[in-house]
Amino acid sequence: MDIYNNEVKSDVIFHDYKCKEALYHLKRKGLPYSFDLNIYRGCSHNCQYCYARKSHKYLNSKDFENEIFVKKNIGEVLEKELKGGRTGGKFINIGGVCDSYQPAEKRFKLMPDILKILIKYKQPVIISTKYDLILRDIELIDQLAHHAWVNIAVTITSDNDKISSKVEPGTSLPGARWNILQEFSKTKASTGFHFFPILPFLSDDKTSMEKMPTLTGRQRRKHPEGWAKNRHKMKGDIEMNNLGKFLVNAKRNTYAAQKGKVPSSRKYSKDLAFEENGYYYLDSYFGEKDFSGEEIVYFKELPIWSMNYYGKMIKENIPEGFIETLREALQKVSEDKPFRGPEEYIRGKYKYRCTNEGNIDFFHGTESIFYENEELYRLYFHGGCIK
Ligand code: SF4
Repeated sequence: MDIYNNEVKSDVIFHDYKCKEALYHLKRKGLPYSFDLNIYRGCSHNCQYCYARKSHKYLNSKDFENEIFVKKNIGEVLEKELKGGRTGGKFINIGGVCDSYQPAEKRFKLMPDILKILIKYKQPVIISTKYDLILRDIELIDQLAHHAWVNIAVTITSDNDKISSKVEPGTSLPGARWNILQEFSKTKASTGFHFFPILPFLSDDKTSMEKMPTLTGRQRRKHPEGWAKNRHKMKGDIEMNNLGKFLVNAKRNTYAAQKGKVPSSRKYSKDLAFEENGYYYLDSYFGEKDFSGEEIVYFKELPIWSMNYYGKMIKENIPEGFIETLREALQKVSEDKPFRGPEEYIRGKYKYRCTNEGNIDFFHGTESIFYENEELYRLYFHGGCIK
């Protein structure tokens, strides 16, 4: 059977739906994405536990699984929104209240155009599905994953075909869903597995609860390279594309600008933080005249980079303008060496100097401040990416 070209079941009615907005901005905090994108309204997978069903009442329809509204103009609208910078690089979740790869997609083929637009704007996404039609677009998704972070999330509620086909009659059987994960583990996209909802008396027995995580582990063992690559892929992309830029913004907007103060994370520590596009920077240090600290960057709550430092005043009497010289020099941090300030910065009789070796991945260096050529202060630093 050619699942990519099969016609959809005949009792499904399709309506054209002109959308005014493609992206829905989520107000809820704590989600790994900020926007929802749904190319259809309604979903013929007909999962018995579907939470999205009630959204159909806004369309004056009670038939969520048999009356599908098709947003044929969504590509055009999405392109305008991305061109205008609406997401600011924040994640889009595709498939919040419908499966974008439900059978209707065999006929309307909206996703390939959506993916081409996402590639054009290097837009990070999470695509959730229960249907192996997604494999039709594997090459486009892989292409997108070469430009932006992509996660393919597959929900598997039970490994039992009978249970699955009763509870989620329109979806692919569990074996085919495992296969989606296997196939995507060979691409540059990362993969995720959702074991929910847990169905009382159907999938909450001890055997299922123990078996599902084991099956996930088996997928990993079958494709160790893919899974390992996915686990570290994110870090590779970050190093290459965005980490340098983010560090420059983080450093210019914390100590160097006297901004970003947050509550202390450790006893007596002084903490400064900055957040942008899924990255979180924390600079936590102890002491004042002589001090020691650590800067750490998280991406999507995973620690990916850190730098440790120790600084000391060498002389007792410090002329006015020392702190101003240090902060001004730190404002000049560069993207290719986002550690401290520039090689040299002169401010009146003050001279700031920074020497270092290595790159963002693995580095060490020394920073000094001189007054009339006499060294007043020195700081040692080192750090790199965390794997
Ligand atoms: S796939 Fe999601 S949206 Fe579609 S019927 Fe199932 S739960 Fe509802």
